[in-house]
Amino acid sequence: MKAVKRLLFASRNAHKTREIQQILGPEFEVRDLSAYPKISETVESGESFEKNAKLKAIAVSKKMPGLVIADDSGLEVEVLDGAPGIYSARYAGAKATDKENIDRLLNELARIGAKRDQRRARFRCVLALGRNGQMLGTFQGIVEGSIVDQPRGLHGFGYDPIFVPNGFEQTFAELLAEVKNKISHRAKAIRALAAKLAALKPSD
Ligand code: IMP
Repeated sequence: MKAVKRLLFASRNAHKTREIQQILGPEFEVRDLSAYPKISETVESGESFEKNAKLKAIAVSKKMPGLVIADDSGLEVEVLDGAPGIYSARYAGAKATDKENIDRLLNELARIGAKRDQRRARFRCVLALGRNGQMLGTFQGIVEGSIVDQPRGLHGFGYDPIFVPNGFEQTFAELLAEVKNKISHRAKAIRALAAKLAALKPSD
């Protein structure tokens, strides 16, 4: 029997942790920082998803042993020149709720009178893999779709209730987790990460 591989996820976002565990499957055990209250939140001062993911992976892997992964992700809306982008979590303010962020986004689209065909958007996820303060790689996943007028569905988190992936009628929040976790930006980034993990020798 293969040994279960342990990964520490440099985050306290339980939604993301659950998705990553589901996508990676039982061969992996994904813990996050919820059991480590003394490890402070990394300031996301980078100007790209990749820089922020690296900042988090390096900071946490300096303090914790083993393989550390960090996720920086968000929604890019074409007609808003890629906003909210790296500011997705704090689009409506530093401590904004998911609902406040969604309301702000829908208000922006209404304000500029964005029509149906101007609502193209994509989720982007960059994962960074680190160990002992060193980067082992970064892995990106993108899912294309569009923004609907009104939030729909109860699953998922963040902007899921207003994002319809291309090829579907339902929002991410209406789709079952198993479906989202097959096609999402995070699923694609994790598949690339898993290939790297499989190729990693203990000495790497
Ligand atoms: P981060 O923790 O700085 O990476 O913030 C990511 C933010 O982007 C989250 O708070 C969500 O608002 C949004 N986001 C990222 N991935 C997803 C997703 O899979 N579904 C919905 N929203 C997401």
